[in-house]
Amino acid sequence: MNCSHYWRRQIVSKGSKLLNRKQAFKRRVHEWAVKLEVNIVWLGVRPMHNKWASCSTNGHLNFNAELLDLDQALWDYVIVHELLHFFVPNHGKLWKSLMRAHLGDYESSAARLSTVRPGID
Ligand SMILES: [Zn+2]
Repeated sequence: MNCSHYWRRQIVSKGSKLLNRKQAFKRRVHEWAVKLEVNIVWLGVRPMHNKWASCSTNGHLNFNAELLDLDQALWDYVIVHELLHFFVPNHGKLWKSLMRAHLGDYESSAARLSTVRPGID
């Protein structure tokens, strides 16, 4: 039996599954961007140490690759959270009411996310 061949196949299938998740995630970001009328210049998904995402008002968005392991409710929370920062730079009253308008009970997703990796924002 050719073991190295077997392992190589395992690695390839794991890699392509992750790629599909990444594509699905990016598709979701673009769906929300259209809905919220945000113009994304750069969209990246990469390992990050202490946050789920980062954005700059010039249209650059980066998401933590760990999100690919999580479910879509948490994706939506992180995506809408960041996209709203294109309009509202803080987590004040306006940001909260927009979060509620688009996601409903977003606090439960926020709470769930904070248990996945405590201490990262
Ligand atoms: Zn924020």
